[in-house]
Amino acid sequence: MRDETKCLRSGYKPENGAPGVMPIVQSTTYVFDNTAEVAGLFDMPTAHMYSRFSNPTTEVVEKKIADLEGGVGAMCTSSGQAASLLSILNVCNAGDSFVSTSTIYGGTVNLFAVTLKKLGIECIFVDAEASEEEISKAFKPNTKAMFSETLANPALCVLDIEKMARIAHANGVPLIVDNTFATPILCKPFEFGADIVVHSTTKYMDGHALQGGGVIVDSGNFDWTNGKFPDFTEPDESYHGVVYTKEFGNMAYIIKARMQLMRDFGCYPSAHSSFLLNIGLETLPVRMERYCSNALKVASYFKSSDKIESVIYPGLESDAHHERAKKYLPKGTSGVISIVIKGGKANAVKFMDSLKMASNEVHVADIRTCVLHPASETHRQLTDEQLIAAGINPGMVRFSVGLEHVDDIIEDIEQALAAI
Ligand SMILES: *Cc1c(COP(=O)(O)O)cnc(C)c1O
Repeated sequence: MRDETKCLRSGYKPENGAPGVMPIVQSTTYVFDNTAEVAGLFDMPTAHMYSRFSNPTTEVVEKKIADLEGGVGAMCTSSGQAASLLSILNVCNAGDSFVSTSTIYGGTVNLFAVTLKKLGIECIFVDAEASEEEISKAFKPNTKAMFSETLANPALCVLDIEKMARIAHANGVPLIVDNTFATPILCKPFEFGADIVVHSTTKYMDGHALQGGGVIVDSGNFDWTNGKFPDFTEPDESYHGVVYTKEFGNMAYIIKARMQLMRDFGCYPSAHSSFLLNIGLETLPVRMERYCSNALKVASYFKSSDKIESVIYPGLESDAHHERAKKYLPKGTSGVISIVIKGGKANAVKFMDSLKMASNEVHVADIRTCVLHPASETHRQLTDEQLIAAGINPGMVRFSVGLEHVDDIIEDIEQALAAI
């Protein structure tokens, strides 16, 4: 099946007389015939047991997203942050390290540099544009993963996924890619060598600004038996001595994430949230196409304005990452545009406050056009050095093009720029 079909047909196949729309299974529990049945589930989780770590409605969404990314399995989480956190905790223990590119989402920088550090896990940041040799120097014997973003939020750098996969694999670790902005409609990182994908489903997947969520997808391709990952190859005493690689083969990563981490942390979405996410997923390919075509027109408009210092949109031919975008994001580069307004922060704020239609909100990838000032909002916890490393100028505005008529979006921008 193609993506458009998968978005509508994957995951839920109604049987004779069953509801045509995936039902919301609003129950924390499942009832079994006898004690032996339940005991068996603790050894081998072949059915739903408890909604802290699995639910039939959410399972449908997990199957659909795994199918879209081309993975062997997926696990939904209650936020994108939870997905990034668990993707790392599934391979790193206290005393371990991992490598991440510095141009990633500000919340992830904070999670990695501050919170994981408190848990004894070190994140080593590297410049995604450095040479393979340079990046490889960051790896240490205790390094267990490499993390990056397909299309960085908000710097909009396009990741050279093949290069990063080569570096990660040469060092015996998996490449984890945050594919939030691209979605599997615009890019499937597994096709270029990534091993694990994470998403904030809060963005384009949900699409309607209804609820937060995240997901981890396993390609099933990484060899966890290479000697670096004893938690995968030695008995898990907290789960009846199960050896994940032996018991679950190429699904070891995603099953371990559920059986250990989701069991213990419980950051699992509710059935109702998954129902809403599924509605978003059903129209994802149609929406992505329009986001991309609207944004290309808006980016060209910004480019032609003398009030704008620079426009970052990899879909523009003049963009530094255009060639790479043609390879990794041939269908378009999402609805997100970064612009730097002449006159720095003061004019950036003036422009934003003068917009009459576009919403000033802490969100991106909304169905409605929205704007945000990273330096004073989402990324305000970063130091000046971290801001520069994340590719953020104080005059930068992150402009997220929605699905209104593109002429209305441009007219709104026109009058706001005139106010500067
Ligand atoms: C928003 C975002 C996150 C965090 O997701 P939440 O759902 O807000 O927790 C992670 N990565 C990227 C690229 C994002 O845009």
